[in-house]
Amino acid sequence: EAKRAGGARHAVFDPAMKVRATYRGLVETELRQALDRGELFVVYQPIVWLGDHDGAGVGVEALVRWQHPLRGMVPPPAFIEIAEQTGLIGALGGFVLETACRQFMAWRQTLGPLAPQGLSVNLSRAQLCEPHLVVQVQRTLEGSGMPPGALQLEVTESLAAQDDAVRQRLQALKALGLTLALDDFGTGYSSLSSLHQLPVDLVKIDRSFVSQLETSAHHRALVKATVEVAQSLGMGTVAEGIETPGQARVLQALQCQKGQGYWFGRPMPAAALAEWLAARQGAGTTTAVTPPVAA
Ligand code: C2E
Ligand code: MG
Ligand code: MG
Ligand code: MG
Repeated sequence: EAKRAGGARHAVFDPAMKVRATYRGLVETELRQALDRGELFVVYQPIVWLGDHDGAGVGVEALVRWQHPLRGMVPPPAFIEIAEQTGLIGALGGFVLETACRQFMAWRQTLGPLAPQGLSVNLSRAQLCEPHLVVQVQRTLEGSGMPPGALQLEVTESLAAQDDAVRQRLQALKALGLTLALDDFGTGYSSLSSLHQLPVDLVKIDRSFVSQLETSAHHRALVKATVEVAQSLGMGTVAEGIETPGQARVLQALQCQKGQGYWFGRPMPAAALAEWLAARQGAGTTTAVTPPVAA
């Protein structure tokens, strides 16, 4: 295989490369076992409306977690990329999508009107290139009974760029009835002026902008412009990584539609999310600028 051969060739000259290749091989083996042994699971982070909103419905983003028997909790950035490079991302992505869709339907049954209204699942670059992706998503929707309109797939900027094959794949996914979100907006290459070329329904403003909202007029202006352009294109807006009530207030003032971040709720296991939803309901508020609920 080209990748292996390349790694071996470089290793002769570059010991660091060999260490990396060995590490990747180790993680690959362990990740394969993790999938088999059920060490992977999914946590859910609330996405709330900012400001008053009649619908008041909460959405959730599914995020994968790996509970390693020895190393403890391994964060996604430490293994998603390796899963992509080794071809395990298809199985991993399938697991997350399947688990999250089933959980979403289970919440509908058990929580009734309190249940989350929407589900977001991340798609990595390699997943979008897998030929079976569209069929895999369609089968999962059918198998779980998940209403396509409640599912949102998150893709990153770099991935959604000017690539015809990618755009066709995105269109095929949309044809299933689901929606697409542009994740981490502002960190990649596409700009506000190219937003209209992307077949996305919603823009997620990256945490790096949100974290500087209160201190930097420049970042406030960027977020304001993003919200305005997205709005004019009929796209929704979600701000990521909101950690303070001040950030939530600024975003609300800038008319960003929705927010997500530790201030509202951390990513949590399904049972904890049900409690979070109940507590939020009990607090009798639908506005975003509420105290955080322990999670
Ligand atoms: P993302 O899709 O942009 O997800 C948001 C990340 O920000 C999550 O990190 C979340 O825990 C974190 N986050 C949320 N609110 C806050 C906050 O207020 N402050 C801070 N500091 N962080 C916050 P996580 O779970 O570690 O995931 C990192 C990335 O890994 C994700 O970024 C996504 O790109 C990728 N990822 C996670 N799960 C999956 C998955 O199931 N499939 C794929 N393909 N990628 C995934
Ligand atoms: Mg995401
Ligand atoms: Mg993001
Ligand atoms: Mg990210």
